[in-house]
Amino acid sequence: MIAVRTLTELAAQRAQWPQDIGFVPTMGGLHEGHMALVRRAREAHEMVVASVYVNPLQFGPKEDYAAYPRAEDADCRRLAQASADVVFLPTDAVIYPRGRERHTQVRVPGLSEELCGRHRPGHFEGVTTVVARLLGLVRPRACYMGKKDYQQWRIVTRMVEDLGLPTAIVGVDTVREASGLALSTRNAYLTPAERVRAPVLYEVLTEGAQRAAAGADLADVEAACAERLEASGFVPDYVAVRCAEDLAVPKATDADLVILAAARLGRTRLIDNREFRR
Ligand code: AMP
Repeated sequence: MIAVRTLTELAAQRAQWPQDIGFVPTMGGLHEGHMALVRRAREAHEMVVASVYVNPLQFGPKEDYAAYPRAEDADCRRLAQASADVVFLPTDAVIYPRGRERHTQVRVPGLSEELCGRHRPGHFEGVTTVVARLLGLVRPRACYMGKKDYQQWRIVTRMVEDLGLPTAIVGVDTVREASGLALSTRNAYLTPAERVRAPVLYEVLTEGAQRAAAGADLADVEAACAERLEASGFVPDYVAVRCAEDLAVPKATDADLVILAAARLGRTRLIDNREFRR
């Protein structure tokens, strides 16, 4: 596996690359969820490029940018084991050469301002801005994204459509522990006691999805899930049932739905979701 850090190295490398590139953008702290994306890309493309970049633009001023786990050597070992061909390890200066304030911003209106966007103002703008830059630099045929970050996946898909970018966005199912807990780099923040409780998030969403699929009133389901989370020691930001495709509030005739939640457990903010049909 080749490590690329600068734009000059990237340009020299890319001149030799095939057209058929599968790309996996990450913020590092890699786990089996990330590896599932790399393996999907490996199956489908001649070449696999992964990136590891903790994007300051997508963290709020009071969020965990400084504390976010950074483990470059371990990340590179995992990527090499999963047969990635290239790891792109840019610095802030490579991603934002003009500085963060002067860099062109990409914003997907509406979709970016609700659910997690409401609780993390500017977060998705940071995501779409960095992903647009990475797609422009790497120029992949397909970009693999986890459905764990469901809203992010839908927003990036919308961005690519709206900008007419030549990259397919592929959503990959969430990888979970046996307990149901979605793998996440931020799980490292959980205390041992919180770790025992964390699987309740997915349990609650699974039960909520089952009730909604059986015809329960969606507002009742949302409220009951939020209550159960609170009773288990979570502080929910939201629990919401939305249309799977565009995250719109469902009409009575909409059948493909997703229940999404974000909740704090101690100092850790966890998100999860479950798709279902009714
Ligand atoms: P991150 O490093 O957290 O920015 O995540 C990089 C990519 O990995 C994103 O597309 C995430 O949605 C995806 N990802 C993170 N956790 C999981 C998981 N448990 N299962 C599948 N994909 C994941």
